[in-house]
Amino acid sequence: MARYTEASCRQCRREGMKLYLKGERCYSTNKCAFERRPTPPGQHGKRRTKLSEYGLQLREKQKVKRIYGVLEKQFAHYFDLAEKQKGITGSNLLEILETRLDNVVYRLGLATSRKEARQLVQHAHFLVNGKKVNVPSYLVKEGDTIEVKAKSKKSPKFKEILEATENRAVAPWLSADLDTLSGKVIGRPTREDIDVEIAEHLIVELYSK
Ligand code: SF4
Repeated sequence: MARYTEASCRQCRREGMKLYLKGERCYSTNKCAFERRPTPPGQHGKRRTKLSEYGLQLREKQKVKRIYGVLEKQFAHYFDLAEKQKGITGSNLLEILETRLDNVVYRLGLATSRKEARQLVQHAHFLVNGKKVNVPSYLVKEGDTIEVKAKSKKSPKFKEILEATENRAVAPWLSADLDTLSGKVIGRPTREDIDVEIAEHLIVELYSK
């Protein structure tokens, strides 16, 4: 499956902000590459050129794709869905992205990063409503339950993850029971719940051209 190949920290430096792509390392000032060197990567990195309106819109789209680990075609599909829904397209888009299963696993604190969540889902460690789901892009709905499958609960991997994420808040539209390594979708994510610095109106403007 196609994926971003550019090193995670370079992606943050390119976008000029922390995208939290590497798990707990991202929360450490000493270990985070962006905190140490916030300039764009490459030979001419120190020169951050002024972007055109189109450039700004494009960068914002790239930023969101990188945060959620989504490629172009799928992102365009989410935009189509967002446009068809009632309400504000930009907010709809982010809300759809938030309901991806890999993001939900991350938001529940059952993975240290979305990338790790994606791998865990692909390796079939999770059940949704009691059934195995190994598709990271699966969109959860209100009332769905998400649980680490019984065999995987014994894995030391999840012990390590819980230790790493113990101080992280669970998204308000989810409830987590970390003793049973499970969670439930108790509402719909709203724009206010999404704590990422994104100017989604720029993405809407880009697609409206
Ligand atoms: Fe980005 Fe810092 Fe995490 Fe690297 S460690 S992915 S620069 S937030």
